[in-house]
Amino acid sequence: MIGRNSKGNRPTNLHRPARHSPRDPAPSADRFDARTRSRVMASVKGSRNRSTEARFRAELVRQGIRGWRLNDASVIGKPDVSFPDRRVVVFLDGCFWHGCMVCGGLRPVANAAFWARKIAANKKRDSEVSRALRADGWLVIRFWGHQIKSDLLACIDRLEAQLG
Ligand SMILES: [Zn+2]
Repeated sequence: MIGRNSKGNRPTNLHRPARHSPRDPAPSADRFDARTRSRVMASVKGSRNRSTEARFRAELVRQGIRGWRLNDASVIGKPDVSFPDRRVVVFLDGCFWHGCMVCGGLRPVANAAFWARKIAANKKRDSEVSRALRADGWLVIRFWGHQIKSDLLACIDRLEAQLG
């Protein structure tokens, strides 16, 4: 586990509501509903090679952040994580498939035109989905895979700031 103390240079968020403070003790697993618990258990089981999504949701659980759903098909774009009560959605965009410019150098050289078309189509769909969600009153947060990998806690902080 990465300790929060390792992030000593991060400015303190004075506006963070106390109930979302990650410094509060996390609720015990028994307080989660059965579906969430089984997801948590599944992610723990596969912890050796966790996906970005699994790492993100495990951190939500660890910090005691509540009220989220995974891949809710009733929400536009089926976001990775949605907070229906707060009208906040989170997309965890894989750097390759969603065309991250920071990680753009990782694109394969073979079939470059094919991948460029495919990624361009994904990017177009991402922006259409974001626009439709905003029009429907949702706040849209998108994280790149490399952000989750390099500083998951900063991503969670950003989410918490938006959850209010
Ligand atoms: Zn990236």
